[in-house]
Amino acid sequence: QYSQLDRAPYQVVDVHELLESTLQMLGGKFGSGVEVVREFDHTLPRIPAYPGELNQVWTNLIDNAVAAMDGSGTLTVRTSGDHGRLVVDFLDTGPGVPPEIRSRIFEPFFTTKPVGQGTGLGLDISWRIVVNKHHGDLEVESQPGNTRFRVRLPLTAAAD
Ligand code: ADP
Ligand code: MG
Repeated sequence: QYSQLDRAPYQVVDVHELLESTLQMLGGKFGSGVEVVREFDHTLPRIPAYPGELNQVWTNLIDNAVAAMDGSGTLTVRTSGDHGRLVVDFLDTGPGVPPEIRSRIFEPFFTTKPVGQGTGLGLDISWRIVVNKHHGDLEVESQPGNTRFRVRLPLTAAAD
């Protein structure tokens, strides 16, 4: 699937439509204890992107956030603009990423989940899609009760 999408040309997409479709697709699995809050800035422009791949990033980040909250908490998905970039934040109220593993979570196959529950590939793939493919960046800020994964995407197409 990855390599197939890889060859498709980029499209000009509405990030909010992509976020909404991913939330719709995953929403049924959240459980009633998880509240989802959308804080969308609909004045943001459409951007050049690979929609299937961005949906995979949203899926990974939302999946991780909901897993971290273990059945109860608030997932906030927020969009904003920042100096020529479109910012998508995923905030959760889970226990956070412990400081001692923070430098490793983007490594392939790094997982703290039980065998069979995590591949440790979600953040590695997300990194490659956001940073390598879209020339954006992906960063985490975390403390107990307040974790934020931030994706920043260029508003205009990169040279390649
Ligand atoms: P997986 O979900 O299969 O474990 P990922 O690459 O998606 O692999 O994530 C790697 C690890 O990063 C997770 O196992 C977890 O320890 C940590 N992590 C990711 N997102 C969060 C989050 N929102 N809150 C706390 N820890 C997280
Ligand atoms: Mg994951």
